[in-house]
Amino acid sequence: MVNSDPTKLDVLAIAAHRDDVEITCGGTILKQVDNGKKTGILDLTQGEMGTKGTSEDREREANDAGEILGLSFRQNLKLPDSGVEVNRENKLKIARIIRDTKPELVILPFWLQRHPDHLYAMQLGYDACYLAGLKKLEIDGNGEPHRPRKIIYASSFRDVTHSFYVDITDQMDRKLKAVRAYKSQFDGSPQSKEIFKPGVDIFTYMSVSAMQYGFQVGVKYAEAFSIKENILIDDPLSMPVRSI
Ligand SMILES: [Zn+2]
Repeated sequence: MVNSDPTKLDVLAIAAHRDDVEITCGGTILKQVDNGKKTGILDLTQGEMGTKGTSEDREREANDAGEILGLSFRQNLKLPDSGVEVNRENKLKIARIIRDTKPELVILPFWLQRHPDHLYAMQLGYDACYLAGLKKLEIDGNGEPHRPRKIIYASSFRDVTHSFYVDITDQMDRKLKAVRAYKSQFDGSPQSKEIFKPGVDIFTYMSVSAMQYGFQVGVKYAEAFSIKENILIDDPLSMPVRSI
């Protein structure tokens, strides 16, 4: 079982639905774990509005996927699926988790989204990172005020100019395995093939996308991210990726 009690983390990914993190940035989570870092996922809803599978199925599957990812922490906030709201109560619930787990890096959904839950998860996550750092703000729980140093936005599958890519060549097989753990969602049925793109199997879609990102930076597989601030380079001479 993946630990659901808060523990000190290096990386916390926050998303609306179970499997969102696996699909959008599971390779990067795995890479952090491979590098000895402690990672966690906070799912905001139980996925009870999904066409396929019950919330119990998805809880079991999320635990299996979390074990494949090597997570140190996974918790579900149990907000209503398709009813995630940006309000102070929800912001404080997430801020409490941030204080309790003290991540340095937080991964949020990209800021342009089709599904409102994804958009609101991004907004809630950002606001919670801010609130968690306010020294005078009292929040339930034992955590001291803490503000993550870095927020990055998972923008794979979004048709935008990304800020950077992470090479996940060594993690791709395990990423696919983690998504496969959601058997109720991706069982190969015609219905499950419509979750991402009509008629396209999600595993094919994920592989082709990761290869496309990888091709752009000279590796086999990559995941895409966006950030709002600029990137500081110490030495342009050693920058990876050829220009010509
Ligand atoms: Zn989702």
